[in-house]
Amino acid sequence: AIVRPQAAAHSKIPLPGDLFAPERRNSRGVEFGARLALEQLLADVKAEAVDLKPIADATPDQTNAALAAAAAGFAAWSRTPAGTRAAALEQAAHLLESRSARFIALLQAEGGKTLDDALSELREAADFCRYYAAQGRKLFGADTAMPGPTGESNALAMRGRGVFVAISPWNFPLAIFLGQVTAALMAGNSVVAKPAEQTPRIAREAVALLHEAGIPRSALHLVTGDGKIGAMLTAHPGIAGVVFTGSTEVARLINRTLAAKDGPIVPLIAETGGINAMIADATALPEQVADDVVTSAFRSAGQRCSALRLLFVQEDVADRMIEMIAGAARELKIGDPSDVATHVGPVIDLEAKQRLDAHIARMKREARLHFAGDAPEGCFVAPHIFELKDAGQLTEEVFGPILHVVRYRAENLARVLQAIERTGYGLTLGIHSRIDDTIEAIIDRAQIGNVYVNRNMIGAVVGVQPFGGNGLSGTGPKAGGPHYLARFAAEQTVTINTAAAGG
Ligand code: NAD
Repeated sequence: AIVRPQAAAHSKIPLPGDLFAPERRNSRGVEFGARLALEQLLADVKAEAVDLKPIADATPDQTNAALAAAAAGFAAWSRTPAGTRAAALEQAAHLLESRSARFIALLQAEGGKTLDDALSELREAADFCRYYAAQGRKLFGADTAMPGPTGESNALAMRGRGVFVAISPWNFPLAIFLGQVTAALMAGNSVVAKPAEQTPRIAREAVALLHEAGIPRSALHLVTGDGKIGAMLTAHPGIAGVVFTGSTEVARLINRTLAAKDGPIVPLIAETGGINAMIADATALPEQVADDVVTSAFRSAGQRCSALRLLFVQEDVADRMIEMIAGAARELKIGDPSDVATHVGPVIDLEAKQRLDAHIARMKREARLHFAGDAPEGCFVAPHIFELKDAGQLTEEVFGPILHVVRYRAENLARVLQAIERTGYGLTLGIHSRIDDTIEAIIDRAQIGNVYVNRNMIGAVVGVQPFGGNGLSGTGPKAGGPHYLARFAAEQTVTINTAAAGG
């Protein structure tokens, strides 16, 4: 059976998959109720008006003013008790859920998300708020007493570092944006957030919601604009940390900027791209492989950092597997994301479409085309399946619904692992096999942040699958995991000679 990711226990937003899960279908009353809830939600989403008029970029003066205001807001926020900071995040989760129709409408209109994707993202965003609140209460609620000699007390405290700059991508414009911002705030930092230039509206409403939930205006500031604004923020001498999610190329630029500055060493927490692989051997269950490959490569139009790009199939079963995968891909409906029947929505903008079309044209010359879906006119890219002679033909992350397949012989599994290693990335890896020794050997050898065995490769449920990569894919620690918040804080050890206390 396909193992579905376990939802964090506190999640209240239903996923369409949950509403129609087999165990709920057993009761006709429950099914009816779920359908009613979904219909009501769809009607509410439709009633939301999203204004897509362009939003002006922040000017350099506004950007500097936001940094100065965040610096001024730091002292009060960092002294606010951790329990109060956590309560604001919990209230934000509650507000997000009570306004799900609004955020789904925004995610569809501005982010091109299908209903399924918008719902999962909303749920992830609320989960981040609650998870970091819960972790933050533990980590920042009280200083940790350290063991020491008699006559001395030792304690370790965790405090905010100062102004944190948070720079996020367009592909999870709500969840990643809120995940970064809430982590930095929970640790006691003030924040200047810069969302991707493609998705400023979602960020603007998310910031308004955080302010309403109790985050002081002085502690959280938004600046909109493109990479130039991002570069200005990271070059500023007054910042204490940067959290970035986006391409490896931009992470490198930021790294250089931070390294070239005089003054304090500024930490960078970066989550970046990947050339993610899956290995399916001859013992894998073909139907499940087909289902999981299609989900991993084409869901969200392939615009997930975790998406499958490179499938290695054992030669003995390759023809049959490729045929089944193409068959499953043929079932996908591509089009309007606000139509519930749609599986694959648009790509983010025309620039992305042109880049992907150019890659498809190159692959048509250099590889064997097994499948090309139908896409409507506009910003859509049809799913494609190409077979490569050699994995080395794919040299960069292709951020769209394009799957590359490579055949391998059983005796050459080590070469497959070398090919994956040679990409330099280490974000996600899928394994489909029924041989435990093979699975363990691959897991041991691969320096990959998130490994998925006998299931699809997407899914990073907060608090269940901490998410993040190695090598070109990021610095760690993993978002939605137990070690994330600590990196946003400065530690302070206080040693007191208690023998000298009070006379
Ligand atoms: P991008 O790197 O182009 O942009 C990300 C952000 O950086 C945007 O806000 C952009 O304005 C800003 N930026 C651009 N140039 C900058 C500069 N010189 N200085 C500072 N900021 C700058 O990425 P994208 O196209 O928005 O997102 C897609 C990428 O994100 C893919 O590579 C994907 O794999 C990656 N991603 C990774 C994860 C993860 O968790 N590892 C999650 C989502 C997306």
